[in-house]
Amino acid sequence: MEATMRTGSNYLAALRDGRQVYLGSKLVSNVTTDPAFSNTAKSFARVYDLKGSADHIDDMSFSEDGQRYSAWFLMPKSKEDLFKRAHAHQSVAQWTHGLMGRSPDHVASYLVGMCMQPELFEGKNGVWLSHLKNYLDYIKKRDLFVCYLVLSPHSSRPPARPEKEYPSLRVVAEDSEGITVHGVKTLGTAAVFSDEALVGCMMPLGAGQENEAVTFAVPIATAGIKVFVRKSYEAQAQNKVDSYFSSQFDESDAVMTFDHVRIPWERVFTYKNLEVTRDMYYKTPAHIMGNHQANWRFLTKFKLINGIAYESAKLGGLLSLPPIQQTLGTLAAAEAAIEGLISSQIHNFETLPSGYVHINRRYMYATLSWCANNYYQIAEDVRTLLGSGPFLLPADASILNDGETGSMFDLCWDSPGADARLRYKFVRLAWDFLGSEFASRQTQYERFYGGPPHVMSLYNFLQCPWQEREASINTILESMESVESTEKEEMHHE
Ligand SMILES: Cc1cc2nc3c(=O)[nH]c(=O)nc-3n(C[C@H](O)[C@H](O)[C@H](O)COP(=O)(O)OP(=O)(O)OC[C@H]3O[C@@H](n4cnc5c(N)ncnc54)[C@H](O)[C@@H]3O)c2cc1C
Repeated sequence: MEATMRTGSNYLAALRDGRQVYLGSKLVSNVTTDPAFSNTAKSFARVYDLKGSADHIDDMSFSEDGQRYSAWFLMPKSKEDLFKRAHAHQSVAQWTHGLMGRSPDHVASYLVGMCMQPELFEGKNGVWLSHLKNYLDYIKKRDLFVCYLVLSPHSSRPPARPEKEYPSLRVVAEDSEGITVHGVKTLGTAAVFSDEALVGCMMPLGAGQENEAVTFAVPIATAGIKVFVRKSYEAQAQNKVDSYFSSQFDESDAVMTFDHVRIPWERVFTYKNLEVTRDMYYKTPAHIMGNHQANWRFLTKFKLINGIAYESAKLGGLLSLPPIQQTLGTLAAAEAAIEGLISSQIHNFETLPSGYVHINRRYMYATLSWCANNYYQIAEDVRTLLGSGPFLLPADASILNDGETGSMFDLCWDSPGADARLRYKFVRLAWDFLGSEFASRQTQYERFYGGPPHVMSLYNFLQCPWQEREASINTILESMESVESTEKEEMHHE
């Protein structure tokens, strides 16, 4: 098949595929027109249009066998390739203000990472590297958007309840053509906006759970799949002035249920292999390549937040105050440190036996951990700078359009740094990003998307060369005099 660099309208047309999306009890018939999703769908469509535009196509894609493909499908063989991929991640993040965690370049990077380390799969039972490679080729050629659900639902936690009608997703039947899966998986961020879902298990499974140890890919619109989304912030957004970000960058999160869904073998990547089903994320570059994208996205978001911080101080006439400059300086230092750390992931790349290169594993996990542990504090510091500003504003932007109240507003809500209408737009934008319910979801996302805090620390524990650290202490210990000789010396002095 010929490769297609997808356009925004191709992408939107593909979403009109009869997928079963539930918003509460309502079955959404068309996510591209429903008020809960349509603007965000357009924001993703814009990513496809921008990356294919004359201004960006060279940087956002690569050519192979005479065809062009999105840069996130590039299997990196050099530092330059890693920079090309990074540029694409940064561009997508900028076009979506760092608010789309699972943009099309996220899961694609996982799949690329998995295929970069074939040794993990070779010679093992219950794993199909060729299926994985073919699948990557399939989505690359069609420029598809894939989300992932790699966790079991809370309802499946111990004690075991074998009688449950909808357990954690598992294989319930298999034949020569494929498997039948049934049950529940979480948490499909951007599932509503994706073409396909990668379903797997990132958490360890134990003996006896072999039928849950399955990894496969499936179109969202497959018969038997239902997508239950959380509350839509886009639906409750007032308009693009009062809710600039939440009205159009609400990527959504969803639980997906599978009612005896058929998966053909060519879309099954692991089955019954407990180790590889999990190791395919961590013992290949999948997890680090996917989260490298997340690091760049975070940086974009951080820069925007620092813009809000600076503008808040400026419009409020506070910029010359030393304590305010100190707050801004601390934020600026953190931003620069994180940018340096992410760039160093590429400069200190690592080479695999397969010849592919990946970003520096340890520096990526350090960045991931820092971002997860510090986002809430950054958001809090900048909210503090906003003071009571968000609550001084009238209820909504309708006041601006009314002659009488609009004039009152112009007269009473200005500041020495800005006219009232500019302040209105800025403060609304800032609160939407940092203080609204949409903003709280962002805070929770940054804390959890890469795993819970204790797991994040474990990644870093495992990556540190502790033996080197121990060796340096031992060298000092060995160079020190023995305790006995010190005692003798002290006695001698007495
Ligand atoms: C907004 C958002 C988007 C997400 N998107 C995706 C996605 O696209 N795909 C996907 O597959 N997953 C996604 N996730 C899921 C994410 O990976 C999980 O939230 C994360 O792994 C934590 O699991 P949990 O939410 O079940 O928390 P729980 O496991 O229920 O933990 C709850 C709390 O208890 C703590 N805790 C639990 N066990 C321990 C322990 N042993 N020791 C110490 N503390 C413990 C946790 O740290 C946490 O604070 C998303 C999560 C969020 C919040």
